Amino acid sequence: MKDNINYILNHLGEEREQYYQAVAPPIFQSSNFTFKDVAKMRTSLQDEMNTPFYTRGCNPTVAILRKKVAALEGAEDALIFSSGSAAIAAAVLSQVKQGDHIICVAKPYGWTFKLLDRLLKRFGVESTFVDGTDAANYEAAIQENTKLLFLESPNSITFELQDIKAVVAIAKKHNCVTIIDNSYCSPLYQKPIEMGVDMVTHSASKYLNGHSDIVAGVLCGSQAFMKQVFESEYMTLGGIIAPNDAWLMIRGLRTLPMRMERVANTTEKVVAYLEQHPKVERVNYPFSPNFPQYELAKKQMKRATGLFSMQIKADSIAEVETFCNALQLFLLACSWGGHESLIFPMCVLYDSQNYGNTTLPWNLIRFYIGFEEAEDLIGDFEQAFECL
Ligand SMILES: *Cc1c(COP(=O)(O)O)cnc(C)c1O
Repeated sequence: MKDNINYILNHLGEEREQYYQAVAPPIFQSSNFTFKDVAKMRTSLQDEMNTPFYTRGCNPTVAILRKKVAALEGAEDALIFSSGSAAIAAAVLSQVKQGDHIICVAKPYGWTFKLLDRLLKRFGVESTFVDGTDAANYEAAIQENTKLLFLESPNSITFELQDIKAVVAIAKKHNCVTIIDNSYCSPLYQKPIEMGVDMVTHSASKYLNGHSDIVAGVLCGSQAFMKQVFESEYMTLGGIIAPNDAWLMIRGLRTLPMRMERVANTTEKVVAYLEQHPKVERVNYPFSPNFPQYELAKKQMKRATGLFSMQIKADSIAEVETFCNALQLFLLACSWGGHESLIFPMCVLYDSQNYGNTTLPWNLIRFYIGFEEAEDLIGDFEQAFECL
């Protein structure tokens, strides 16, 4: 019962008898909590992580969310942050000190890269970025001072996977901790904790909240890991979620399974259409039989979700821009995971006059499929291709 998805989303963590049997929980918009006597105040302070004392540590609305998110990931506990980046930074910082070394998959989320490559470098922590499509590259990069292996499978632009079980085995052999950014799959379509990963992060701004109206992040793991992060990075850096945003996320979570299913179904149809289109050079989608790691994707993910990227046959950035501007149902924007279809062309990263030597192909466009009808989105593609 406890790990039944409907029970988790509808009931787990909701102590309705505490608030007039209200179906929807209240937003405990209070920074502070008071006590009848000194003894009760002392008891609460001794377990600041789980008893309302001060909202930076524990807030009852946020506590409901923690229980649901942990159960969704199959983890013992979870912490909720003000952004996905705050969750990632807290998790990574909790595992390293000056002189340590981290191995991270190449091309992680941009701000994860900057955390490792710039911020942590200032404090004497070095990182190596490896091609994660072969787990052996993690092992080859192990040093005596390696403490942490970081995964993001798949990533959110080109979708390369890591063989999660293989990387976990390497980590265990060398006494390293593993953290994975599981944002692409959501907790429904990939279960890293079951595969032995120590800590799982999500940008909850994407699927978990799912309505493009808050920025938030989550971190899941064992009680021991969560306590360690709570007592240090969580409380000292203080990147907590506000009670009102936690409430919005509880509301967003109620529909997670149907949102994920809708998005995955529509994306499969759109990808199948694009893969046979003569003006498409290549589509990157983990559950396409053309994807180089299709077998691994099928093995460790339940489904692929609403993000994919494609290279179109174009002669110039100007032509890519014409195509993107012609799409009517896709909003030009970053992020993803909400109700609305989105488009992020890599050429926004490049000067349109000077793009000979770019890391990501200039004709690569990332798409997110929202709740629109597949036929309508395909029709929109059809008319945009005609503008090329
Ligand atoms: C958006 C994103 C993040 C960062 O999350 P924020 O909530 O924007 O801070 C991290 N990882 C991935 C894969 C993302 O897409």
